[in-house]
Amino acid sequence: MKRRDILAGLGAGAVAAGLTACAPPGSGPAASGGTGEVIRWKMVTTWPPGFPGLGTGAANLAKLIGELSGGRLQVQVYGAGELVPAFEVFDAVSSGTAEMGHGAAYYWKGKSEAAQFFASVPFGMNAQELNAWFYYGDGLDLWREIYEPFGLIPAPAGNTGVQMGGWFNKEINGLGDLDGLKMRIPGLGGEVLRRAGGTPVNLPGGEIFTALQTGSIDATEWVGPYNDLAFGLHQVARYYYYPGWHEPGTCLEAIFNADAFNALPADLQSICTNACKVATQSMLSEFTARNQQALETLVSEHGVELRRFPDEVLARLRALSEEMLDEMAAADPMVARVHGNQKAFQQGVTSWHEISEEAFYRARSL
Ligand code: CA
Repeated sequence: MKRRDILAGLGAGAVAAGLTACAPPGSGPAASGGTGEVIRWKMVTTWPPGFPGLGTGAANLAKLIGELSGGRLQVQVYGAGELVPAFEVFDAVSSGTAEMGHGAAYYWKGKSEAAQFFASVPFGMNAQELNAWFYYGDGLDLWREIYEPFGLIPAPAGNTGVQMGGWFNKEINGLGDLDGLKMRIPGLGGEVLRRAGGTPVNLPGGEIFTALQTGSIDATEWVGPYNDLAFGLHQVARYYYYPGWHEPGTCLEAIFNADAFNALPADLQSICTNACKVATQSMLSEFTARNQQALETLVSEHGVELRRFPDEVLARLRALSEEMLDEMAAADPMVARVHGNQKAFQQGVTSWHEISEEAFYRARSL
């Protein structure tokens, strides 16, 4: 998820927002959590505090852990830049500077190329399917294996649901319309666009509006109606395309310092992992509710023109995605394991969803 972007808006505003409480002396990874003892943790995040859906999701997770533990485990949340910069969250939790972090796994491809497969994959699984893979397939085990050498324990802790395809100032009627298109679209999706003849650009969220307004980019994706409306992207682009083929259900992550987590009594460990499950469902519910409200505002109040990518374009992007993923798997043994496992699970769940979710969606709109 794209949230490298989010960091953008951060800076001063994030710091000024003021969640910078001081951790009490003596708090730290070694706390044992005996009777009556209050354990205080720090959670560093890649989001501005209070950023809709994502920053608030991290804050809700921290609050939930405090409530479920009856106050025995209290987690102080730090926005990006308040304790460490956004992209140092992984290292900060790994080293024990903070006991916990919240971000997205595709930020850490520099640590492991395979990490990004735990956030979102073009034409991959949606939120429901991805969670099934994590908890009832091999997903979480593989993820833990990859983070283990870093002294980290990961957990899904949020999901945006299917994102939007993005904002354009010209219609996309065929593959030729992607040729030469300069679009802000990070990560795996950006690489697919490049293979389709476009020019992917990676910009932080806070720079998107101006870049599109001045014409330094032709198009952009961000998240979905809830977040895109907040950025005012409808003011600088006419067409709003769907579906978000590149991010079909982006998973946010919680990471725990392994020493700190393992020092917790079993009930607090269970509270942490189960609070992450609640956070995932809660964020998905929030995005589902807010996206539909924001979409109505965009279309009925701001005159945004919704467009669906033509089948020809989607089919080509899908073929290019598969080609890219196979090449990545051939180049990295861990990517090969993760992608192979994910692909097999996706094929199975697709067979089931064709006659369940998908068939029902169709039936509902007859
Ligand atoms: Ca995005």
